[in-house]
Amino acid sequence: EAKLQLVHRHIRAFPDFPRKGILFRDICPILKDPAALTAVTDLFEEHVRQNHPQVDLIVGLDARGFLFGPLLAQRLSIGFVLVRKKGKLPGPTLSVLYDLEYGKAEAEIQDDSVAPGQKILLIDDLLATGGTLYAACELMKKQQAEILGCMVIIELKELNGIEKLKPHNLFSLIQY
Ligand code: 5GP
Repeated sequence: EAKLQLVHRHIRAFPDFPRKGILFRDICPILKDPAALTAVTDLFEEHVRQNHPQVDLIVGLDARGFLFGPLLAQRLSIGFVLVRKKGKLPGPTLSVLYDLEYGKAEAEIQDDSVAPGQKILLIDDLLATGGTLYAACELMKKQQAEILGCMVIIELKELNGIEKLKPHNLFSLIQY
């Protein structure tokens, strides 16, 4: 449909970034075009209203999940919570270690960000191996949140991140 095509036209590919052999999908043109950004938010909103009307909170991933998550949360009149890279959040936190392609990273949330039983949806710009969203799901489980699903603009299908996220479901706007 028209909205998806609009989003599609605002994604660029850069070969060999950040390293040789990686084709980086750049979502910056979406943010630069208000109609494309509205289309992304509309498509996420339609998905949530149809499939997860009971959602309590949107949980966004550092850093590009922060660009799209709050817009969606505002549409839904619900709150937004940040999962950050380690060392950025003040006060008591919970963290999980996870694997990157080379080495490890740590994701963190404030320990009062989600109450037990709250229904959450996670959002990021892109799913590759699924390691990042998987780590965020682990944090949500530590908080005893009820995970309704994960949402991304772009899914890189050949890396099979969807398998890593199971049993949680994934909604993506565009697949490569
Ligand atoms: P994963 O943990 O699924 O392997 O990697 C996903 C994370 O890395 C996301 O937070 C995403 O923002 C970032 N990422 C990896 N590859 C790309 C890419 O090609 N484009 C963009 N925009 N982000 C990427």
